[in-house]
Amino acid sequence: MDLEKLARKNIQTLTPYLSARRIGGEGDVWLNANESPFDNKYSVTGEGLNRYSECQPPSLLKAYADYANVSLEQVLTSRGADESIDLLIRTFCEVDEDHLLFCPPTYGMYRVLAKTAGIKEKIIPLTSDWQLDLTQIKKNLDKVKLIFICSPNNPTGNLISRDAINALLAMTQGKALVVIDEAYIDFCPDASQVDLLTHHSHLVILRTLSKAFALAGLRCGFTLANPKIIQLLLKVIPPYPVPTPVVEIACQALSKEGVARMKQQVNTLNVHRDFLQKKLSDLQNVITFKGQGNYLLVKFLNATPIFSALWNNGIIVRKTEIQHCIRISIGNKNECEKTYSLIRQQINNEY
Ligand SMILES: *Cc1c(COP(=O)(O)O)cnc(C)c1O
Repeated sequence: MDLEKLARKNIQTLTPYLSARRIGGEGDVWLNANESPFDNKYSVTGEGLNRYSECQPPSLLKAYADYANVSLEQVLTSRGADESIDLLIRTFCEVDEDHLLFCPPTYGMYRVLAKTAGIKEKIIPLTSDWQLDLTQIKKNLDKVKLIFICSPNNPTGNLISRDAINALLAMTQGKALVVIDEAYIDFCPDASQVDLLTHHSHLVILRTLSKAFALAGLRCGFTLANPKIIQLLLKVIPPYPVPTPVVEIACQALSKEGVARMKQQVNTLNVHRDFLQKKLSDLQNVITFKGQGNYLLVKFLNATPIFSALWNNGIIVRKTEIQHCIRISIGNKNECEKTYSLIRQQINNEY
């Protein structure tokens, strides 16, 4: 029997997301998934594991509501921001009928999760300066239920302008939800759109502990939205989405000390990013793009030999859908220097 044929048709043709560890390679420098180089230590009591965890642990909701400056009723926690994307799709999109709109180059999971769920896509590329193409979006809103905007955008690193977001909110009122993915907002907290929640009930904001909080392995994310949206998502979320040890660790990360440490580490990584950007942009035929997250998009005349040279030396970075561009996550100082030296060497070999 052909087991492949048993799968749903959209799964048979689905290209899965290339996740951090799936790429293979024998790297000792992992700069392909925007993980933090800081391996902070936590302790768990390991108590109470005989009981199911609470669906939405009040201590965790309170900790994040305080951090994000929203009310408890506006917060939902899930297994990473990725689970929230999936919940939004399954809560709001009618299969084979509704559309999900996104604007590449951007985060790949919107497409993968829409396709998995059997939801149609409307793809409206960003403009040449990587902003929203509001004219095209406006023309293509028919049957669109969800619009995903990533800011800072992965992989380009730039912010989406607040004026454009306001315009988008105005044209979608009563028709669709606008979801702003703020996975990297802790690297530039002043750019958050969280204050817009007060006046826009169709706005949703995604957050995570995976990036600036250095907890990618914890699998803990948050959805910030109008309480009515949160209540709808709670109908669909699995009964026990947040394991008890995760709650303990996440609450430590969101404590006063935890947040202070995160901010310090963000400062350090932003310095590393600006250092790497400056050094790389001084090289011949290399263009870097000013990024706001913990990664840098870099353009070469030909990215393939650069990617291979790094790979062969155990430095794993990420290819992107943007021609000749690779995305480099910001590691510790040593990792940034090693990456820079190898790129310089490779470029000197080429010319
Ligand atoms: C990393 C990332 C996520 C996923 O975050 P998790 O909380 O680890 O699931 C979501 N959106 C963007 C843009 C990301 O880069």
